[in-house]
Amino acid sequence: MQSGKIKEIWKLLDSVPDPEIPVISVVELGVVRNISFTNNAYQILITPTYSGCPAVKTFIDDIKSCLKTNKIFNFDIKIIYAPAWTTDWMSVETKEKLRKYGISPPSNKVVCPQCNSSNTVLVSEFGATACKSFHKCSECLEPFEHFKCI
Ligand SMILES: [Zn+2]
Repeated sequence: MQSGKIKEIWKLLDSVPDPEIPVISVVELGVVRNISFTNNAYQILITPTYSGCPAVKTFIDDIKSCLKTNKIFNFDIKIIYAPAWTTDWMSVETKEKLRKYGISPPSNKVVCPQCNSSNTVLVSEFGATACKSFHKCSECLEPFEHFKCI
């Protein structure tokens, strides 16, 4: 019975968008690590992306309000830092969504999301947020953000 509910919670959280990149959910981002049921409450384990990323508080609030809207009140959200979040937790599909959204997905090689050229220049270590760097493509001249690889 609980396992059905746990599946439902995974589905609900998969509808909570990342506050910075609305095309991907907090589940796709890989920050929701585990959901279990103990002590009469759903235990939701969250691993923040970049330490000190201001988005963490936002997505925890978003998760809380999503669950409450769906009449789930008996839950605890715990933040765990080990193992540390890594961009490897993003699936290939998620990285493709990022690219379509115009953000160069995490990878060792920065590739322009518009024309796929790797002929790019780093403009700034920090984009709109600390998790991203800002680049410009030397082929199509489009500026773009790159999700940093960690
Ligand atoms: Zn380009």
